[in-house]
Formats: sequence, structure tokens, C-alpha cells
Amino acid sequence: MPTYIVLLGPPGAGKGTQAEILAERFGLPHISSGDIFRENIKKDTELGKQAQIFMSRGELVPDDLTVAMIRERFSRSDCVRGAILDGFPRTPTQADALEEMLKGFGGRVDLVPFITAPPEALVERLAGRWTCRAHGHIFHVRFNPPKDQGICDIDGSPLFQRDDDKAETVIHRIEIYRSQTAPLIDYYRQRGVLAEIDGFAPIEEVAAHLMSALTS
Ligand code: ADP
Ligand code: ADP
Repeated sequence: MPTYIVLLGPPGAGKGTQAEILAERFGLPHISSGDIFRENIKKDTELGKQAQIFMSRGELVPDDLTVAMIRERFSRSDCVRGAILDGFPRTPTQADALEEMLKGFGGRVDLVPFITAPPEALVERLAGRWTCRAHGHIFHVRFNPPKDQGICDIDGSPLFQRDDDKAETVIHRIEIYRSQTAPLIDYYRQRGVLAEIDGFAPIEEVAAHLMSALTS
């Protein structure tokens, strides 16, 4: 039986960090829409050029482009047993499209951990976030520092600060989350799959809560 988990929560809540942990524990692919967009920007693809316009402003990439990109990702065989989705869906239109796509695998969204943290914590986390150039592994200057400054512990590639983690863009991204993505909380609550997780705790503690929500 496939297992599809959608991580929901504002920017900085810890979705990417927890997705890495869950993907490793369950042996499932970690699908981060933001990472796929950044990869396309790095390779200067047509999708990357279009996505960059929206990402640099802290706005959402239009649904049609985003859904087409995820559809392509789901066409690869590693998704048939399940996946940890991080950053997708972000609108009800995307959530409807996901439901359709999973039907094709005989799957459905099994659980939606909704990770929360207060706004001040989100801003502090994003301001200190360092991301790995090669694979998007996530660190924090204070809360999860790499062993060697500026270098990814996992693959040795350089760490960089994302352009959209600048304070002004972060605040706009949190507003966009509230207006466009927060409706998914009710969307998934109504489907009986939402699990609220307090993200305002150390990374390992949040991971332990997630594991118990997943295995209960
Ligand atoms: P999201 O994917 O939801 O935007 P990330 O997982 O990228 O969030 O985390 C944002 C930043 O906060 C990263 O620098 C990460 O290391 C840090 N972080 C994640 N979870 C926690 C936590 N529970 N406590 C403190 N810092 C955290
Ligand atoms: P964070 O977890 O910090 O919010 P992401 O890496 O998930 O950041 O996303 C970065 C940016 O990529 C978003 O601000 C948005 O511009 C774009 N993006 C990522 N996922 C989606 C999506 N599902 N729909 C539309 N835009 C997206």
C-alpha cells in the first residue's frame, strides 16, 4: 500500500527538515517543489526562467506550471510506493490535481502533518537558514549548524543563503501562505487526514511527534 504524506505549514515551520528525516526513515522519495524549481533555475530551463519571476518576489508560481512539474516528477517509478511531499500542494487547485494524480497509482493522501510555529520564530529561522547547493540539505546557523562552516555535512557541497530568505521577502511569503495556502488546513481537516504538530520545539522533538502521528 503506498504512503503519501503532505507536509503543510508556513515557510520556516520545518517542513523540509522533517521531510528529510521522514524520507530517510521510511525509504520514500522527498519531493520538494521549491528544490525542483531551484534546480530548474540553476539549469536555466524554460520552467526555471518562468518560476524565477515569481519566486524572487516571494509569490507562488502559477498552478498550471507547478502541477505540470509535479506530474512529471510523479511519472518516475520511485513514487509508486509513496512519497513525502514538501511544499506541494500550496493551493486548493493543486490539492485537487494531486488527488487526481494519486488515483492513477491507486493511492491517496494518507496523512497531512500541519506544522506550526509562531511568526517571530519563522522569521528567525529563515534569516539563519543555509541550504546545500547540490541537494538542498537544510541547516541553520544557530539551531542546526553544519560541522564545518559553509559546508554540507552530508555531501560536502557549499552552503548558500536563499535570495528569498531576505527579511522583506520572508514577510511577504508568510502573507501569501496565509491567503493562498492556509485554506488547505480545512481542506484536509474535512478529509480527516490532518494532524497538528507543534513545530516550536527542537528538531528531534518535532520528529518524534511526527513519528507518533504517523504510526498511531
Ligand atoms: P520550511 O521547509 O518549512 O520552510 P525548513 O525545514 O527549511 O522549513 O526550516 C527553516 C529553518 O529553520 C532551517 O534553517 C532549519 O534548519 C531550521 N529549523 C527547522 N526546524 C527547526 C526547529 N524545530 N527548531 C529550530 N530550527 C529549525
Ligand atoms: P519554503 O518552504 O521556505 O516556503 P519552498 O522552497 O517550499 O520554500 O518554496 C520557495 C518558493 O518556490 C515559493 O515561495 C514559491 O515561489 C515557489 N513554490 C514552491 N512550491 C510551490 C507550489 N507548490 N506552488 C507555487 N509555488 C511554489
